[in-house]
Amino acid sequence: MDELVQQERLSPNFDERNAPVEIVVLHYTEMLGPDVAIERMCDPQAKVSAHYLIAEDGTVTRLVPEDKRAWHAGVSYWRGHKDINSVSIGIELDHPGHLHGYRDFSEPQFEALVPLLSSIMKRHDIPRANVLGHSDVAPQRKIDPGELFPWERLAEYGLCLPAPKIELGDPFDNDGAFYLALERFGYDVTDGHKAVEAFQRRWRPRKIDGEIDGEVRAILFQLLIERDRGKPARSDPRSGAGVRAAHGTRLMAERTRHIITEARGFLRLLLGEIAYVMPPWHFELLPSARYRR
Ligand SMILES: [Zn+2]
Repeated sequence: MDELVQQERLSPNFDERNAPVEIVVLHYTEMLGPDVAIERMCDPQAKVSAHYLIAEDGTVTRLVPEDKRAWHAGVSYWRGHKDINSVSIGIELDHPGHLHGYRDFSEPQFEALVPLLSSIMKRHDIPRANVLGHSDVAPQRKIDPGELFPWERLAEYGLCLPAPKIELGDPFDNDGAFYLALERFGYDVTDGHKAVEAFQRRWRPRKIDGEIDGEVRAILFQLLIERDRGKPARSDPRSGAGVRAAHGTRLMAERTRHIITEARGFLRLLLGEIAYVMPPWHFELLPSARYRR
């Protein structure tokens, strides 16, 4: 045991990984209390497990060693990976789920999750964009950890991507282009409606209806641009407001230029993929002639 893990109940439900760890999947247990969840994850008949369980009181239990393949994700997909269990670490959050009265996640649980997740990400060199919910990797079957999970608070620690502030317009004005872009971001879009619901649950939880609207399109576009930019997780307080005020204009100009450059690159990439779904007049809006220096 160490300071991050208070107890160990080793589960028989694991096997060998066939690829290195690069993703963390967060779940809720949808059960009444940690004891039933531990019982189930240690039951060989149940054939389910996770690497860690965090109780609502903040107690962390290790069930499967990180170098083994725990059975938490089931049939799942992310960015070309189909065996998410092999490439991920699964963390279960003790929580009644939507089935038993959906409610806020507890504070002690969040406080235990932050250092555990941070340590996992450091040890396996996992980018914040690869911290996902179960619903992200299994949108047709799963809705956990759900719209009340505090992703934005986690993002403040640099432990997942924040929901973007919409700065750019909306380049997807037909659904085919949107789904291609959603798949590029990572989602399995076999069931388009479910994929959009999962996307909304994670990135715009106040309205989950599976419909592609302008705000949803703009969020996806911004996410694709920001994902691998590697912005610092938290602005250093010393280089905060004062410096920003002093250099505000220059920073703003740099940032705008950066966004435009990335947007142009992205549009060019997208262009190849969406050529067949876009009516020809769109091409007048796109890169070269208009934006060439
Ligand atoms: Zn789950």
